[in-house]
Amino acid sequence: MQGRVYPSSSAASSPETLLCTDCGSVAGESAHSQLFIVCVTISPAEHGSGTRVLGEMDKPLISRHRVDSDGSLAEPPSGAPKVGILGSGDFARSLATRLVGSGFSVVVGSRNPKRTAGLFPSSTQVTFQEEAVRSPGVIFVAVFREHYSSLCGLSDQLAGKILVDVSNPTEQEHLQHRESNAEYLASLFPTCTVVKAFNVISAWTLQAGPRDGNRQVPICSDQPEAKHIISEMVHAMGFMPLDMGSLASAREVEAMPLRLLPAWKVPALLALGLFVCFFAYNFIRDVLQPYVQEGKNKFYKLPVSVVNTTLPCVAYVLLSLVYLPGVLAAALQLQRGTKYRRFPDWLDHWLQHRKQIGLLSFFCATLHALYSFCLPLRRSHRYDLVNLAVKQVLTNKSHIWVEEEVWRMEIYLSLGVLALGTLSLLAITSLPSIANSLNWREFSFVQSTLGFVALVLSTLHTLTYGWTRAFEESRYKFYLPPTFTLTLLVPCVVILAKGLFLLRCFRLRLAKIRRGWEKDSAVKFMLPNDSILTEKTSHV
Ligand code: NAP
Repeated sequence: MQGRVYPSSSAASSPETLLCTDCGSVAGESAHSQLFIVCVTISPAEHGSGTRVLGEMDKPLISRHRVDSDGSLAEPPSGAPKVGILGSGDFARSLATRLVGSGFSVVVGSRNPKRTAGLFPSSTQVTFQEEAVRSPGVIFVAVFREHYSSLCGLSDQLAGKILVDVSNPTEQEHLQHRESNAEYLASLFPTCTVVKAFNVISAWTLQAGPRDGNRQVPICSDQPEAKHIISEMVHAMGFMPLDMGSLASAREVEAMPLRLLPAWKVPALLALGLFVCFFAYNFIRDVLQPYVQEGKNKFYKLPVSVVNTTLPCVAYVLLSLVYLPGVLAAALQLQRGTKYRRFPDWLDHWLQHRKQIGLLSFFCATLHALYSFCLPLRRSHRYDLVNLAVKQVLTNKSHIWVEEEVWRMEIYLSLGVLALGTLSLLAITSLPSIANSLNWREFSFVQSTLGFVALVLSTLHTLTYGWTRAFEESRYKFYLPPTFTLTLLVPCVVILAKGLFLLRCFRLRLAKIRRGWEKDSAVKFMLPNDSILTEKTSHV
């Protein structure tokens, strides 16, 4: 079957074909086989307002995939809604596979069908562009923007049909053109209805099916009926349509795949900046100082030891930076005596990035735990142990046991594990699927209260690590204090401020402000007597 050019089949020839009750056009198959919700073989112009929409109960309960015993996609039943695709590239091939798997009859229009037919599922018709656009009412335009004008010769055949623009501009093209690709296509084919869809779905996701990758398909068009038809097709293919309004939104839809984790940019840079600073500081203290002052080569510490001293510093400071903006916002509200004045932009942005900062803190803390597990595996650690044992034999010390050190280590490890466990809870509840299953109070309890508990546990973990080291002169290398003393600064400020806001005078005033009281307002304001009601104020 490969490499053949197939003639278009007549959809209406099947005895199982359903007719649209409004205009008599082909709507789909009978209920006992494959069902389709909308009539897609006709253009909206031909169809008028008579799109046939079957109910939810008419949808098949089993997958729409029909696979032959040899694993290839079976022929679509005659009468299946016919869809056209212009272009025979990667996207067109994946789209055709998905459409055939979803029960559509597909006809592909190529400039060279002989060459490309073998790359498509055997049930797909691959033919010349003019032939391909003749019968389907919906045509996917799977070619790049710069080649749109080469399709202008098809204007007459395309008149009145729905053109689905799947294209994605490059970043440069997006900046260069003020009008979106979809609007440009609409300007080239004024007699067609252009719908923007599927551009956010990669060829790979289309081929693999909606189980892999994003399932949402943003759709926009100036014609609600055309948008509805494509939305139903998106549903039939196993994806989730997302109505983005008119074609004027196409630029926004086209910008979606260009984004690279926009909410993570600032938090990631912050984490990287902290890592570089702490790494440099630890390098100076743990590697450079022994080399310069004692002539000892400790550069081997760089890959594991210095990284493992740096990671907890970054994790701990990041965690405190999750709670610092809340403290600053509360202080601002107290000072202004109102909640109705906007926070400065930098604080607003900071508040919005707390989730990402918290997740990066969790990431660094997890890496710190993994590195710590690996410490005894290092060759340098084994040599140190052997050397210590030899030294012990030489100095005739049979039993070394420092009770204080033993306790310090036990408590230090336990607090670290508890802090990491609490942080994991925070990270898990920030997943959308988990967050959606919690009500506002539960979510706020986990993120606010448990998060603060994690910060306190991390502070105790750091303090037990430090113990008395901050007061020992030998710990000040190049007059630089131990790293943990630096990391304690911000978290201690946050914990103290939180403690301060728990004082009755601040707590009540803050609660009043968050329920709408204003310092300069003439309206007298009383807090409810019920303490539970008082607590139900909006928190930053
Ligand atoms: P591709 O592999 O390069 O295919 C482009 C196709 O355009 C060619 O195979 C060619 O088919 C056709 N074409 C029609 N007129 C042409 C002309 N004058 N010059 C050159 N080619 C012409 O690209 P693609 O990856 O399939 O992408 C196609 C469209 O889908 C693009 O707009 C892209 O932004 C969009 N898209 C792609 C993906 C993806 O993952 N690949 C994801 C989302 C959106 P014939 O030679 O058979 O005519």
